[in-house]
Amino acid sequence: MTSDDNIKKMGALLREGAKMLDYSCPECNNLLFQLKNGKILCPTCNREVIFKTDENINIESDKSLTQDKRISSLSDIILIEIEKYTKILNTSFQLSQVKEILDIIEKLIDIYIKISKVK
Ligand SMILES: [Zn+2]
Repeated sequence: MTSDDNIKKMGALLREGAKMLDYSCPECNNLLFQLKNGKILCPTCNREVIFKTDENINIESDKSLTQDKRISSLSDIILIEIEKYTKILNTSFQLSQVKEILDIIEKLIDIYIKISKVK
């Protein structure tokens, strides 16, 4: 699967109301998404990822915070932006606007992936 396909898939997930998580897949190291039903999905492996306990998630996020504060805060901003545009997307019905917003979200995800690779 190309990364372009991945971005499209992530965009589709976000449009469905899934939330991009700050955790990566233990298999492929790509970003994980939490679906509306609470399930955590890796769009790359196309499978559900189950964390053993909430504790594991906390350990992961603490580690990334101390590793590089500057980069993780930049990715936080991008996550907030993605969330903001996803909300706009949910309330927009004009096709041209939807396309525009999807374009922005796609770019944001692209940046987010690049930052994740730097980490
Ligand atoms: Zn994966």
